Amino acid sequence: LLPSPDPVSHRVRLISANWKMNLNHLEAIALVQKLYHLLRPEDFRYAEIAIHPPFTSLRSLQLTFEADRMPFTLGAQNVSDQLSGAFTGEVSAQMLSKLAVGYVIVGHSERRHLFGETSEQVAQKALAVQQAGMRPIVCLGESHEQRESGLTLDVLTAQIDPILNTYPLEALDTIVIAYEPVWAIGSGESADPEVVEGVGRSLRELLRRRVGDEIAARIRLQYGGSVSVGNAREFMSLEDIDGLLVGGASLDAEVFAQLIRAA
Ligand code: PGA
Repeated sequence: LLPSPDPVSHRVRLISANWKMNLNHLEAIALVQKLYHLLRPEDFRYAEIAIHPPFTSLRSLQLTFEADRMPFTLGAQNVSDQLSGAFTGEVSAQMLSKLAVGYVIVGHSERRHLFGETSEQVAQKALAVQQAGMRPIVCLGESHEQRESGLTLDVLTAQIDPILNTYPLEALDTIVIAYEPVWAIGSGESADPEVVEGVGRSLRELLRRRVGDEIAARIRLQYGGSVSVGNAREFMSLEDIDGLLVGGASLDAEVFAQLIRAA
């Protein structure tokens, strides 16, 4: 059940569930079993579907996906920027790759704002993910004040530049960029699709200038921030948007299955 690429962009769509700090491992298993039951084979052909549970559920979901041959991809929500050693409480990229993790979210706005992660650290994390054979989902986004002050593109450029300067050029098409305006996350107030369309076009243009047309055309862009059953289709139909990063609406199997169908 491999997802087919979009016929126009040739990029494989990616719908990612970011569970944040929710669901213990038993609840996690129950949710994916229900979700799998609700989805049809064509849903898995439309897009790659990735589940990003807390670290404590990764092993359980890896075994569940394997045992029941569920075509979900496993994802993590964070990773250390260090490779190994005396870093109490941290989890390395190598450890995640051993659990068959395919994608790791780096630089989520909650990590930048609540845990003080800098764009330089985010770039180191993205590199650690790539070197361990996985793909980073790099989150970018401006605050409400930055948008009001017309700083959106400056902010996004400053967030992405350290990655473009650190990540190996030949592997750059393995990154996924998630545009998540800070004020749209968890607020129930998603960004205006026209705004997202404009930002998507500007990001693609920035990538073209920095890494060339060919690689820029292969990098996938996601939108995130209050994605719902009602707006998923509209975001997915935007030319430069190849996927969705879904928080709240991914915590209920029925809602998330409906969202994937709607997309
Ligand atoms: P939300 O979260 O869908 O609940 O707004 C999105 C995210 O933080 O990735």
